[in-house]
Amino acid sequence: MISLGSLGTDLDELRQVARAFADREIESRVDEAESAEHFPTELFRLAGANGFIGSHYPVDVGGGGGGIAAAMVLREEFSYSSVGISSGLGHQDHVGTAYLHRFGSPEQIDRWLRPALAGEFVIAMAVTEPDAGSDVRRMRSKARREGNEWVITGRKTFITNGPLADGIAIVVRLADTTDRFGVFVVLRGDPGYQCERTLGKMGCNSSEVGELVFDDVRVGPDRMLSPEGGSSLEDVLDVLVRGRVLVAASALGLARRAFDVGMEYAKQREAFGRPIGRFQEISMKFADASTAIRAAHLITYDTAALLERDSTVPVLECSQAKLFASETAVMVVDQMMRVFGGAGFMQSSVIERLYRDARFFTIVEGTVEIQHRIISSHLGL
Ligand SMILES: Cc1cc2nc3c(=O)[nH]c(=O)nc-3n(C[C@H](O)[C@H](O)[C@H](O)COP(=O)(O)OP(=O)(O)OC[C@H]3O[C@@H](n4cnc5c(N)ncnc54)[C@H](O)[C@@H]3O)c2cc1C
Repeated sequence: MISLGSLGTDLDELRQVARAFADREIESRVDEAESAEHFPTELFRLAGANGFIGSHYPVDVGGGGGGIAAAMVLREEFSYSSVGISSGLGHQDHVGTAYLHRFGSPEQIDRWLRPALAGEFVIAMAVTEPDAGSDVRRMRSKARREGNEWVITGRKTFITNGPLADGIAIVVRLADTTDRFGVFVVLRGDPGYQCERTLGKMGCNSSEVGELVFDDVRVGPDRMLSPEGGSSLEDVLDVLVRGRVLVAASALGLARRAFDVGMEYAKQREAFGRPIGRFQEISMKFADASTAIRAAHLITYDTAALLERDSTVPVLECSQAKLFASETAVMVVDQMMRVFGGAGFMQSSVIERLYRDARFFTIVEGTVEIQHRIISSHLGL
């Protein structure tokens, strides 16, 4: 196993606990979940009961009161076992619940956030639309006021946990405003709301991603999370910036797994009378991969330290960590795939799954290109 050094006693112990949980509860489910393309939903409650959902939220809202680094260690270890399952748990740990935490009233926190952190209420987060991905401002979903109610119309796509969710934290434009956005909770069973379909994907097949339709869904004011007059788009999206380090940690977990399975294979597979790892062409792949993984580890946890130390979110560093770790995952898995030769091309090999899953990181929470734009604009370009 690749060793990256200590993060301190508490986080090292947490890593061991997370590793044991992932070995026991994720590894045993991943093959079936991947082939059925179905998230093992009992893991929400199991993870919740172990304090693995919302470890980074304050204790007074039902969280674990830990720092972001603790949540990253959990995400990294879960992704080492399965990016799909880690993604399903991760979207519960951060995005939907982040909106409840950021904007929720005490009543809304009691009603939805506490059960969500216990894994008893699955909350997805819906921003992306068929015609508005990176360019979020193009979103057409809207909420209009009718008397005391809000009426929500629109379509959201690529929504992780959408097919399973008890509730959706949906971001919409407020009708009759020039540029105000609102976050509402829509519940499964609300008339006019449905998950129209579960989308087939190239990877992360043990997570479920859906397309959601909102056709005049009427909700009361108790469902609005954001302030009455709405928020700026920047304020709404700000919640997502912290999530980039969690994605970086997840990418790191996949890169470590790819390295470990590649190393094991390189030691036992023989060609021309010796283990293939003894050929310089193969051993150099491990030299490069281990260096990139170490650098990704350092940038990712350094950014966690900034997030824990500073009151303002380090936008530049979060983007750099996400960019570097996701590109590292893609590079490492590509190099390790080569180590396996034909065996890596077969569906029976773990590296084949990792190869497909790695692309996830270059898209979610802002694509690679969007991270390039954020970073270069912070550099003054
Ligand atoms: C598995 C998976 C799970 C997801 N889960 C969720 C979820 O739970 N909730 C949710 O709301 N969304 C979710 N998403 C959506 C994800 O956030 C979007 O896919 C992502 O933001 C990119 O948007 P897009 O797919 O519309 O691509 P587009 O925005 O159409 O981009 C297409 C290409 O153009 C590039 N591009 C776009 N604008 C620029 C620019 N200004 N400069 C340079 N290049 C640019 C992009 O980088 C990309 O290469 C998920 C996506 C996937 C794949």
